[in-house]
Amino acid sequence: MNADKKVKILATLGPAVEGIEQIRQLVEAGVNLFRLNFSHGEHADHAQRYNWVREVERQLGTPIGILMDLQGPKLRVGRFAEGKVELQRGQALRLDLDSTPGDARRVNLPHPEIIEALQPGMNLLLDDGRLRLQVTAKEHDAVITEVIAGGELSDRKGVNVPEAVLQLSPLTEKDRRDLTFGLELGVDWVALSFVQRPEDILEARALIQGKAALMAKIEKPSAVQKIAEIAQLCDAIMVARGDLGVEVPAENVPRIQKDIIRICRQLGRPVVVATQMLESMRFSPAPTRAEVTDVANAVAEGADAVMLSAETASGDYPLEAVQMMSKIIRQVEGGPDFQSQLDVGRPQAEATASDAISCAIRRISAILPVAALVNYTESGASSLRASRERPKAPILSLTPNLDTARRLSVAWGIYSVVNERLHQVEAVTSTAVEIAQAQGMAQRGDTLVITAGEPFGQPGSTNSLRIETLH
Ligand code: PGA
Ligand code: MN
Repeated sequence: MNADKKVKILATLGPAVEGIEQIRQLVEAGVNLFRLNFSHGEHADHAQRYNWVREVERQLGTPIGILMDLQGPKLRVGRFAEGKVELQRGQALRLDLDSTPGDARRVNLPHPEIIEALQPGMNLLLDDGRLRLQVTAKEHDAVITEVIAGGELSDRKGVNVPEAVLQLSPLTEKDRRDLTFGLELGVDWVALSFVQRPEDILEARALIQGKAALMAKIEKPSAVQKIAEIAQLCDAIMVARGDLGVEVPAENVPRIQKDIIRICRQLGRPVVVATQMLESMRFSPAPTRAEVTDVANAVAEGADAVMLSAETASGDYPLEAVQMMSKIIRQVEGGPDFQSQLDVGRPQAEATASDAISCAIRRISAILPVAALVNYTESGASSLRASRERPKAPILSLTPNLDTARRLSVAWGIYSVVNERLHQVEAVTSTAVEIAQAQGMAQRGDTLVITAGEPFGQPGSTNSLRIETLH
């Protein structure tokens, strides 16, 4: 088991990574869970990647999470005859409902409700805001725009219209079909894009019916405003900085990221910082200094996981990107004041036995050299409460549920092992000793802290703590 870092890596799969061998290398380099991005690719591609990951999981004997990311009501341009065009500042570009491949003068915008909502003077931001168009005229089923900021535009690039109010459900028809497919495959997490309101989470939950955990992507100003309520209702949060940085002024993103991480830590919801973390590594084997600092900051701020998008999905250096991310994480985590800085932002414990025990194990692991904090959990809830404390020692989560183990792959400091269902604290202790040794997390003379709850199998019943030294 590769438990040498607390912060997790979520890597997006795409055509850059083909086959079991390459995926295994990414896991060995530090990936803890994978994202299947349903904005791209066919169902068959996702099914194949899903199967590859499950095979690697089997080979390595380590639970690996799989997250399906629903496209949501993301607006995109259509395709181009040549795959891409170069747009010059000042030129005109027509956006219409005609699905014929486009060129430098016109392209499909397959969203009638957007064409409808656009008015002269409004801005369209393309490809994460790299290009800007301004509407100059409206026609029936089309708008004419002027290119304000030009550049290369390729097939299916995203479109944001911050000035228009769009009446859209968070789940399109495509999302619903994709969701059915993904749940049937057996994904562990579903990420919901362009969440606007707390009700969006309830709508998705009703469809998922507990078959997967739910992650809300925060990329709309309205979601930022309701972040506490949204975080309360879902299982995890993604700071989706790509679209977020287009929908709100880019300079606001660092503060929003900090706020979201703080609120998620308070609630004990895992939080993922995403997008452009090592962007330049798509085309270069080395990142920029600014990117390294960005990843390091997310780690220092207390994020549970950091994400790679195009870097691993379509970049030239997917393995190098993961290796670099792992190195940055380990470097920050090994720093002299990493733990004390996390402690400064530590949330208040709630008045429960589980939080009291979680608090205690954090203190114990700061006082004694603890090899691992072993927690027996069926639902994963008690491991998440332990993780919320950001203790110094890794959390070894023992669970009889493979689903729980896979879902916990996103959470700070938690490493899971699936074993048989246990019924007494004594059995947890002997199993913990055995597994910690087998996983190379502890050896003779090391100390383990073991927590479990009686009655077994009842969530929130964590009530015992034991310190065990290996003989
Ligand atoms: P995406 O989401 O990659 O699906 O757009 C992440 C983001 O917007 O940052
Ligand atoms: Mn997005």
